[in-house]
Amino acid sequence: MQYIEPLAKLIEHLRTLPGIGAKTATRLAYHIIDMEPSKAKALANAIIEAKEKIGFCNTCFNISDVNPCRICSSPNRDHSVICVVEQPRDVAAMERMRDYKGVYHVLHGVLSPLEGIGPENIKVRELLLRLQTTKVKELIMATNPNVEGEATAMYIAKLVKPSGIKVSRIAHGLPIGGDLEYADEVTLSKALENRHEI
Ligand SMILES: [Zn+2]
Repeated sequence: MQYIEPLAKLIEHLRTLPGIGAKTATRLAYHIIDMEPSKAKALANAIIEAKEKIGFCNTCFNISDVNPCRICSSPNRDHSVICVVEQPRDVAAMERMRDYKGVYHVLHGVLSPLEGIGPENIKVRELLLRLQTTKVKELIMATNPNVEGEATAMYIAKLVKPSGIKVSRIAHGLPIGGDLEYADEVTLSKALENRHEI
């Protein structure tokens, strides 16, 4: 079916979003067209504003509207414990738990030789540099409990261990093959508590 040009364009853009197929994109596009003009404008503006105001913290690489981010600049956090996660959304999951008082490092991906993602494509070098310039006691590897997450945790552990920094891995209370993001707070809290040295 041929859609009129502005509608086709909207569908095409919505389709680029994760988890949105052709059907959902079309449904959303029709919904947006039905929206009150002020609401549609507010939606568009929210996208523009989020893109303009949110950048990355130069220390932990989490998303932030200030640099360094509020966690990195907080005197109430333990800056000697760094939790290494894959994505900014994993920081949000850890923060929901409320009992972690350390800081973070967001890798922005995991090693995946099959997809051609090597250490230079994620924030590994930035992590090593950070460990050289700040006094760190422990690195908690909280990458997802799947093949790539495990391999990435092991790779970083191997690089860091000679420096004498303790490297631990969150326990497998988490579902294997699952996502940190979707773990409930209790499971995540237990996994953090039962972490083991690697
Ligand atoms: Zn930060």
